[in-house]
Amino acid sequence: MDYYSQTISRLIAELGHLPGVGTKSAQRLAFHIINMPEEQVRQLADTIVTAKTQVRFCKECCTLTDSDLCPICSSDKRDHRQIMVVENSRDLAAYEKTGQYNGVYHVLQGAISPMLGIGPNDIRLKELLVRLQGDVDEVIIATNSTVEGEATAMYLSKLLKPTGIRVTRIASGVPVGGDLEYIDEVTLLKAFENRKEL
Ligand code: ZN
Repeated sequence: MDYYSQTISRLIAELGHLPGVGTKSAQRLAFHIINMPEEQVRQLADTIVTAKTQVRFCKECCTLTDSDLCPICSSDKRDHRQIMVVENSRDLAAYEKTGQYNGVYHVLQGAISPMLGIGPNDIRLKELLVRLQGDVDEVIIATNSTVEGEATAMYLSKLLKPTGIRVTRIASGVPVGGDLEYIDEVTLLKAFENRKEL
């Protein structure tokens, strides 16, 4: 790193902290940024800061949004009695892309992982329980087919049993260990349609 100016070394180090960016990519990105027009660099930096400061959790479903209520939760065209529980906003986006789901969501912002020390209190479960005190017909558990996703689904189904609300789990059309966001829309739709009672 001593071959570069201190400032560039710092930029490379910062970029290298991003997920999926190794040292080589960080170097490439850093030099790309240095060669960009200043105006463009300012725009990029501004956009990052604005996103960080403006984006918040929807007070209903806990997805990331620009306002207190996300567009889905504030829509009266959606069926608010059907709640699909997903791990993150990217999974929500994957289901939205199918264009076939008309209910609302609950975004846990994570999954239970004893290995990583993430327990039920570390994800947005309390917020879900509050919502279930309202009129809800069905909770569809659409966490990933990973160890964490399954552990979360199991915990949720046990937690929800006493409420008497219909609880379903998306089908195994979703490959084991698969992240929802990488699965094509047809597979996702099949998994939803073939969901089973828990
Ligand atoms: Zn919302």
